[in-house]
Amino acid sequence: MGEITPVRVAIAGSTGSIGTQTLDVIRADPNHFRVVALAAGSSVAQLIEQANEFRPEIVVVSREELCQQVAAALPFAHVTTSLIDVVEVADVVVNAVVGFAGLPVTLETLRAGKRLALANKESLIAAGPIVQPLRHTPGALIVPVDSEHCAIHQCLRSSEDTQREVHRLVLTASGGPFRGKTRAELAEVTVANALAHPTWSMGPKITVDSSTLMNKGLEVIEAHELFGTSYDSIDVVVHPQSVVHSMVEFTDGSTIAQLSMPDMRLPISYALDYPHRSPNAFGAISWRNVKELTFSEPDVTTFRCLAIAYEVGRMGGTAPAFMSAANEIAVEAFLAGSISWLAIADTVDAVMQKYSAETPTCVEDILNADARGREAAKKWLAQ
Ligand code: NAD
Ligand code: MG
Repeated sequence: MGEITPVRVAIAGSTGSIGTQTLDVIRADPNHFRVVALAAGSSVAQLIEQANEFRPEIVVVSREELCQQVAAALPFAHVTTSLIDVVEVADVVVNAVVGFAGLPVTLETLRAGKRLALANKESLIAAGPIVQPLRHTPGALIVPVDSEHCAIHQCLRSSEDTQREVHRLVLTASGGPFRGKTRAELAEVTVANALAHPTWSMGPKITVDSSTLMNKGLEVIEAHELFGTSYDSIDVVVHPQSVVHSMVEFTDGSTIAQLSMPDMRLPISYALDYPHRSPNAFGAISWRNVKELTFSEPDVTTFRCLAIAYEVGRMGGTAPAFMSAANEIAVEAFLAGSISWLAIADTVDAVMQKYSAETPTCVEDILNADARGREAAKKWLAQ
């Protein structure tokens, strides 16, 4: 028996929720994976601790002023400030950065013809038209880490002709912490309320997005970009237990679903091991403890970010980049305590009303739409 060559894994955003769970998956199978690069925005102490445990070749800290300190603590690693430096040494790049800042990792991984384990949905949503051609680079492959898209990816493997046989995709949504609330009740909610997600423990940005249903809206666009499905054939259903992670309905009436307990380590290990199944189980179900699985229609009047995102997805071009940027600004402002929860959707709605999408032809067009979305949201919030 020859030595098994370990899969070289780079993690951009290693100190976050997805990043640390990726390291957990790797700890469970240390001979199979080798961490070759780690990158974070700040959280220096945690990054240094991770690097000391996993001994990567490359460590990236995006903030220039923190680089010296990290380099001094890690003499064995090459320490830089450039996120895309993680790509070259890896077989698989996990993009677990939050927000538009993850864009360079998505682009560079695909350009380099490598596998992208994609958690950072914002990059694909904003830059869909630019990302699509890069997927044709020999060796390039996106395997989604977002649980719904990972579920759909698995369900689609039951068809040999997805172009003809897929009738619709059904994304499940937990509904977040405010499911069932009225607009009047939502006027009073606090940051702490919004961060108390009932089924998932995640970073602050996505947790707030889950509370407004913008996360589901972004995921509808993500599904369209990943699987090429038309918006008319992507449905959302509220499923508070977060056990059915999403489904595909086929032309013959069959629905195939993927189920597990909510545990992001399962989609992470799926993306790391693809096309194989991991020998280590995460989130396996004890059926005797599953009380009920329920499904209902989302309330898009109260949670209008979902409806806005469908509309923006249909506009296409630079519209998703603009919307996602405006949403990032509004969510930051909410987390900082400077605006109400209701103002998040109000901001996104107001800035989209005045926007006409363009067709992006290069990355600069996306950067520009992102900058304009941020500016428009800041301006609206300042008035
Ligand atoms: P998080 O806030 O917990 O972590 C974000 C990570 O990104 C941190 O390591 C941070 O240092 C890093 N980062 C931020 N800005 C950076 C920059 N400019 N340069 C380099 N690194 C930077 O976020 P998260 O919850 O882990 O989410 C990460 C991504 O995964 C998001 O796009 C989110 O939508 C997606 N996602 C997360 C979950 C989840 O369960 N947490 C589920 C599905 C999808
Ligand atoms: Mg998701």
